[in-house]
Order: sequence, then structure tokens, then C-alpha cells
Amino acid sequence: MFVETKTKTKLLKKMGKAIADFKMIEEGDKVMVCLSGGKDSFTLLDLLLDVQKRSPVNFEILAVNLDQKQPGFPEHVLPEYLSSIGVDFRIVEEDTYSVVKHHVPEGKTFCSLCSRLRRGILYTTAIEEGCTKIALGHHADDIIATFLLNLFFVGQLKAMPPILRSDAGTNTVIRPLAYAQEKEIAQYAVEREFPIIPCNLCGSQPNLKRARVKDLVSELEKEIPFIRSSIMTALSNVTGSHLLDTKLYDFENFEPLIKKIPEGHGSVEKELDAVFDHSEETLIPNRIQPVVIESLVT
Ligand code: SF4
Repeated sequence: MFVETKTKTKLLKKMGKAIADFKMIEEGDKVMVCLSGGKDSFTLLDLLLDVQKRSPVNFEILAVNLDQKQPGFPEHVLPEYLSSIGVDFRIVEEDTYSVVKHHVPEGKTFCSLCSRLRRGILYTTAIEEGCTKIALGHHADDIIATFLLNLFFVGQLKAMPPILRSDAGTNTVIRPLAYAQEKEIAQYAVEREFPIIPCNLCGSQPNLKRARVKDLVSELEKEIPFIRSSIMTALSNVTGSHLLDTKLYDFENFEPLIKKIPEGHGSVEKELDAVFDHSEETLIPNRIQPVVIESLVT
């Protein structure tokens, strides 16, 4: 029998907080857990089954694997594992591999088309199975990398939502590992000895930009040990008035803010600084929201 380790306790705490913060799971939900066979999705399923046992909220779990017919995919591994832990599951077989190989030119990365095809199939499966939520195994490092990719290459201040309704409004995607760090998940996967299926069976070129930003964060972490928690905190601590998006803040009516400066408290310049520039506060690490720091760093 698996003894609960520190890693598991930490991950469960983070998953519980993410579920609560973003109201991911409600009474009566049927959660479809997408299991690819990688460390993230194994950890997601394992911990959600634990949450299901402990939670006062009643919800069902259905594990779903999409067999994309990649060469060498070990078809028996997931059914055997899922049967051994007694969880309801469904294996969906769709040859997206051939479709992607046919449409993507040689040397280009397959991931974009592959992900779109997979998403469509999983959304349809969730509807067929009456699932009210679709749980994915993305974690904090995926959220950080997506945020930096959008910042550096797309020109958008946008990360990866912890909960998302599909455009058609028919599916709701949740990411219960949103606060968990990849290294903790990797550690847990080793402890649990999950039967990991390698993720390079498709033969896709690696996504070089994503790998680069992940490396960048790791390089910067040597100088700024709290960089990951700081970025995650920043994503939950946005000051719209200090950005340049006129949709986010009513700059048209900023004037009343200036009139609110109290009189007789230092120079006008100092008061103006206080109103318009909180940058020092946000740069001081120990001002980072303690609750998030605690959940991300400990
Ligand atoms: S790595 Fe392969 S299986 Fe994964 S998204 Fe990219 S193309 Fe699809």
C-alpha cells in the first residue's frame, strides 16, 4: 500500500486550493479526466481520486484516454492500469496521427493541429458520456510558459485559464494542478511508479519556443529563487490601471482619482507618486501574497 508522502500532501493541498479558488468541481459533477499516459495526467487522476474520497462534494470520475494510433503506442498499458485501480474508464480510438502526418509539412511541429483534433474529440466524448467537466493535467510551469510565450511572441498578456468554458458553451475545462510545480509532479510520479508512456511516439519536432522559455525561467531561477511563485502571484494580482489596455481600465475617467489625494500629507509630487506608481511595492518579494507564496514554495 502506498504511504502518503510529503510530496502527495503538498500536491493535494495545492489541488484543493485550486479547486476551491476557481470553483472547479461542484456537487453532482461528472469529471472526465484526460489521461495521456504522461506523468501529469497520471498524477491528476491519482490525486483527484483521493480528493473524491475526502471531499464532502459528491462527484463522479471517468478516465478517458485518446489512442491516437501513434506507432508503438502500448495499447495495453492504460487499460491494465485503470482496471487495477478500479476506476471507470473509456479508451477512444481515433487515428489523428495519420491526419497530422498527412497535413503537416515535413520538419514542422505537429502539435498545433494534433491538439486541435484531440480537443474536438475529447469535447465530443465528454458530451457523449454526460461529463460536466473535463480535467486536464496542465500545471503551474505550463501556465508560466504560456504566459511568457504570449508576452514574447504574441503581444498578449494572457496565460492559461484554470477553468474555461468552450466557445460553444457546451464543455467546461478545468486544470486542478494549476498551482502544482512540474518538479513536484515528476517527483510524485517516481514515488508512485506510474507506468509512464513516452510522449515522443508521434515523432513531432519539439516545440522549441516553449522549451526556450522554460529554460529561461530555470536560468533566471538561479538568480531569483522565487521567480515561479512571483510570476504565479503576479497572475493573480493584476493592476489594470498600470497597464495600457483601455478596455481594462477606465482611463477616460481617471481625473477623479487625482482629486482624491489627501491634502497636507507631503509634497504633491510624493502624493502623485503614491497614486500612480506602486511598482516598488510589487517588486519587494516579501510583499508577494503570503498565501500564494506558501502554496507554491513550501
Ligand atoms: S507531442 Fe505529438 S502527441 Fe503530443 S501534441 Fe505534439 S504532436 Fe500531438
